[in-house]
Amino acid sequence: MDADIIVIGASPAGLMAARNACEKGPSVLLLEKKEEIGHPPHPANSFFKGMLDKCGEKADPSYVLHYLKGMKIISPSGRTVEVETPGYAIDKTAFDRFYAKKIIKTGVDLRKGVTVQNIQKEGEKFTVSTSAGSFTSKLIIISDGINSKLASLLGLKTMKHPEDIAWGIELDVRSPGLGKSKMFEYYVGNHAPGWKTTYAPRGGDNAAVGAYVRRCGTDVMPYLNAWVENFKKLKGLEELEVVRKLSGGDPIVTIPNEYITDGIMVVGGAAGQSGIGYAMRAGQICGDVASDAVRKGDVSKSALLEYRKTWEKEFKIEHYIGRIGLETLRKMTDREIDEMAKVFEKQDLSFIHGSSVEQAMQVFAFMLKKKPSAILKCRAFLRNK
Ligand SMILES: Cc1cc2nc3c(=O)[nH]c(=O)nc-3n(C[C@H](O)[C@H](O)[C@H](O)COP(=O)(O)OP(=O)(O)OC[C@H]3O[C@@H](n4cnc5c(N)ncnc54)[C@H](O)[C@@H]3O)c2cc1C
Repeated sequence: MDADIIVIGASPAGLMAARNACEKGPSVLLLEKKEEIGHPPHPANSFFKGMLDKCGEKADPSYVLHYLKGMKIISPSGRTVEVETPGYAIDKTAFDRFYAKKIIKTGVDLRKGVTVQNIQKEGEKFTVSTSAGSFTSKLIIISDGINSKLASLLGLKTMKHPEDIAWGIELDVRSPGLGKSKMFEYYVGNHAPGWKTTYAPRGGDNAAVGAYVRRCGTDVMPYLNAWVENFKKLKGLEELEVVRKLSGGDPIVTIPNEYITDGIMVVGGAAGQSGIGYAMRAGQICGDVASDAVRKGDVSKSALLEYRKTWEKEFKIEHYIGRIGLETLRKMTDREIDEMAKVFEKQDLSFIHGSSVEQAMQVFAFMLKKKPSAILKCRAFLRNK
């Protein structure tokens, strides 16, 4: 065998899976198709501290461009709900390189410029065919992102609701002082069906603006163009210099489905586990289970199911609550969204804490106390839209 475990894709999920697997002893080969780690970058400009804490990781100044205090959620008529939650605007290329350097130190054999084309199994051995020849291993971790071809080649339907992938475009923009704000801004409503438009301050003159939609096809440009014009008006800008455009799919509420089979584990966007923080934590769980399985000499599906069990324990309910929330938002009218925002506007929401279930209960109790009729707006979830 060339390695005990082959990881495909140096994504946030793949980097963590490779690191955790290798730390416990097995030999790990990580294959990445890009010639340079993190370049060109996969879109993602920020994440929040809470999720990084769950991964047991600390933000590193080498990739943090700007420190954020929290976020504003803004309704169609401009009602603003503020949530204090520290976050980071990041340089995604520097982020990927930071972790790539770290994992090489743990002993992972990282090969760049290697595109995986196929995976075949003969007896107990997997053969991975690539642009740089074939490699063999006992176990494969697929972390090749949202456009994963490899998982479907193996017959795995990794997402329950692939039709709900959010398609997004993110523009890096410049204007004097535009990046100085400490609050991320999410704008929700039917101008971005199913999800949001964004303003992400990135320090100094730099910011990012984005549009993300669900169930409206993959062409997000019309929504983004309208958002840029509206954003200029909102911020009183005559001109906005566009520095870079990144786009892609984000499997935000697609819910992971089949992501394990004999000798194979799928992780990160490829398995419907969206967002850098979630992908990293899933990668850690996957890497831990993979190394245990290899050391015990049993990489069967039933041995690998520990990955699913642990992931579900930590995230299943949160993902379902998130799905209900976003589906309700997609089906609500702008007026309903405004009425809902009115309940939370200018309120101190620092009481919301704990697990996702606890948070959902606290929000529910708050609405019940403040404006019970607002709860009825959630009936939108049942609409056939
Ligand atoms: C427009 C947009 C904006 C986003 N913004 C944010 C954000 O601000 N914050 C956030 O947390 N998340 C954001 N996301 C989601 C985030 O980008 C992903 O969830 C995150 O990158 C985790 O993805 P991943 O680990 O599955 O893999 P990816 O980051 O997609 O990486 C997959 C890796 O696999 C490699 N690869 C693919 N195929 C092969 C192959 N055949 N052989 C070898 N290597 C291969 C790729 O080159 C790549 O390096 C955004 C997504 C989009 C589309």
